[in-house]
Order: sequence, then structure tokens, then C-alpha cells
Amino acid sequence: MKRIYKPSYLLQSDQFVANAGVLVEAGMITEVGGIQELTSRQPDAEIIDWTGLAMLPGTVNSHNHSFQSLLRGLVVDRPFLEWRDQALYRYSPLLSEQDIYTGALFAFGEMMRYGVTTVCDFFYLHNQGIASDEAIIQAAKDTGIRLVLARTMYDWAGAPGGYRETIEQAVANTRQLAVKYDQNPMVKIIPAPHSLHAASLEMVKAGHKLALELGTRMHIHVAEEPFEVEETMQSHGLTPIELLHKIGVLDENMVAIHAVWLKAGEIQLMGKKSAKLAYCPSSNMFLADGVTKVIDLMKAGVVVGLGTDGACSNNRISIFEEMRMTALLQKVSLLNATAISAKQVFSMGTANGEELLGIPVGKIEPGYYADFVGVDTSDLSVQPLFSVNEQLLPNIVYSMQPNAIDRVVVNGIEQVQSSKLVSIREDDILNRLQTVAEKFNACK
Ligand SMILES: [Zn+2]
Repeated sequence: MKRIYKPSYLLQSDQFVANAGVLVEAGMITEVGGIQELTSRQPDAEIIDWTGLAMLPGTVNSHNHSFQSLLRGLVVDRPFLEWRDQALYRYSPLLSEQDIYTGALFAFGEMMRYGVTTVCDFFYLHNQGIASDEAIIQAAKDTGIRLVLARTMYDWAGAPGGYRETIEQAVANTRQLAVKYDQNPMVKIIPAPHSLHAASLEMVKAGHKLALELGTRMHIHVAEEPFEVEETMQSHGLTPIELLHKIGVLDENMVAIHAVWLKAGEIQLMGKKSAKLAYCPSSNMFLADGVTKVIDLMKAGVVVGLGTDGACSNNRISIFEEMRMTALLQKVSLLNATAISAKQVFSMGTANGEELLGIPVGKIEPGYYADFVGVDTSDLSVQPLFSVNEQLLPNIVYSMQPNAIDRVVVNGIEQVQSSKLVSIREDDILNRLQTVAEKFNACK
């Protein structure tokens, strides 16, 4: 079925244009152009009237841990390692496949309401198999969100047993899922060795090799906290990026998560090797990790995308929020209001997602997935609009509240209408959360 979306304003190359339309067929954008011309050329297409709405690309959440939504509000205001041991390591071993499904349904449903159309779920609670991974994939299918499952490879003995696999198991399980979903545009599997402290060097190398075999990106947490730098310096006499380079995995397919504690030489090396960054500013502030040198990384040629990280270290899971936080944190840490622009952070949360995930998302152009957001331009949080071109994009980045997000379309299907989820019921999520609450309370 052909559909032509007819918004009041369409975002095209950083400019909002009126009288434009977008043709969608089989989940893809096939044409973008003047509405008169498009409708006369496609007389059989259904017209979707988005009068009053500004149409933008859906946002791309490049780093999340969906099950962590179940831990939101527990053990807050603590240092990272205390939070990890008292919240993460205490509660996550209690989670069954059904609970993991609930966590993903909850996280995906909430973030879709805030305009996320693609999420990369960095998932490590495998319990020695793929059933939990399949539970996440099922939750993505049931909510209608586009999923990149960064299937974590983890062999550090200090973590709960359910996180850990042998190298052979991790490779076989990740490959099995990748092959199974190879032709599915809504699910992509990528290898994700957890980090240099939670995956052995052999595991990291195996993840890199598998990414090459599958033709995908490889995601890995890098230098989130100073202790990670101290560990690699002590064990190898090298900083984390130097060590990743030495073992041969620092390349254009490597996406570093966080990268807070990098030295100038590491920033240059990442740029030279065309590695990428998934930046999670709210999480870095919440856990008091530090401030990633995003401006220097961009100058070095590193493509930067945005992630929310888990909902218990943010604690909001909106990429529009991360755009705002990126701009504010970078400006204040550099004492420079011109350090970064609304347009740059908007691209980080949309178009740059294509680079980080290796799928055609984040732009309203032919050949991209039909993933959009419709913003209600009459919502007070995006007003005033004396000049649409001057004010609308900055207002979306700096002042918009979630209630202005009226529609969300993923793969050509409206999944949010009038700010409400379509495919799943919020009271179903609430009922499921009650079951998890009973389990957590029983172990207190
Ligand atoms: Zn993470």
C-alpha cells in the first residue's frame, strides 16, 4: 500500500519546508517532494493528513540496557560501583525470561512515546542461552520498535553467572541469532564484547572477528570510569584505546560507548581509525563519570551518536532529552555557548545513528526506513514560532516536552497516536511490572 504523508512542515537538510510530502511503500521512504507533484504522480496513494504537525526523522537510541528500566529508582545517589553491586548485581539474577520481556516492553513502550524509533539494546543477561535474547526481540516486535540487539559477550568471573559465557558459546549464540534475523528489517544482531574489564582480550577479539564475518558494527563500553584506565595501564601499560588498537579491533566498525577518560592521543587515534562514539551525557552526569571530550572527538573525525544508557542511570529514556543534555553539558564544561549547536546535537540523535548501527535510519530520504515523529507545533513547549526556520529546530532540542510528540511511525506503521501507544496497552505494562515488584519485594 502506498501512503503519502502530508505534514505542515517537513524537516529536510536542517530546514523545515512547507507543502512537501513523503511517499512510503512497504516500510520504506521511496520519494520526497512537493505535495502537488507527488499526489498527481501517485493518484492511488492514500493521503495521511498531518496538518498541524512537523515531521522529523525518528530518533535513534544508540545505547540502552532495557532490563535496567526495572531497576529505576532503586539505590540512587550512589557511586557507580556501589550502584552496580547493590542494584544491578543484586536484582538482575532474579529476572526470568518473562521479567526480561516485561523490562523490554516497558522500556521500548516508554521510549517510543518520546520519539525513539530505533533502539540499540546492549544486552548481557543471557543465562547461557538465547531464550532471553528472544524475549527482547519479542518485546520489540510487540511494541513495534526497530531493534538492534548488541548481544553482549562477557566472561569476567566477578559478575553474576547469568552474564557469563565461554568465548565459544558467545560466538555461537550471537551467530545463531544473527543468521536467524538476517532478512528481518526490524531486528539486527551485532556482537558487543562488554568492555575491557568484563570481557577478556580473547573475547574482544572474537567479537571483532564475528562482526567482520557478519558485516556489522561492534559495540563496546570504553573508559567510562577512571578505574578502567588504571586497570589497562596496570595490566598492559596501555590506555584503553591504545590496547584496543594493539589487539587489532580499533577500526571503522568499532563503536565505543562513553569514552569519558581518553587522553589527547587516544582521541586522535579514534579519529584516524574512523571509530565511532555512542555518547550518553545524562548517564555520565547521573553516575558522576565525567565529561567526554565530544568536541575534540568530533574535530578528530569521530562520528558521535547518542544513547540514553539504562533507565536506572539516567533516569529518562528520551533521545530529545540527550540532545539537550549534550549541548548543555558541553557548553558549560567548556564555558563556551558556541561549542556545539542545536543542529549538531539533532544530527547526533538522528542521522548519525545510521553510522553507529549500520542501518538506514535517521533521515527522511528515499532509501531510508519510514521512521518518523510528528511534533504538534501548537504545543506550548515548542512555541513561539514567529520564524519556523529559525525557531522550530532549537525549540525541539531545547524546550520541547514529550507531550508535544503526537505521532510516532516505525516502518510505515503509526505506533503512537495522540501521544498514546497503539500496539500495546500501558495497563498491560503496569500489570506486568507488579509481578516483578512482588519478586523484588520478596527478596528484601
Ligand atoms: Zn551501558
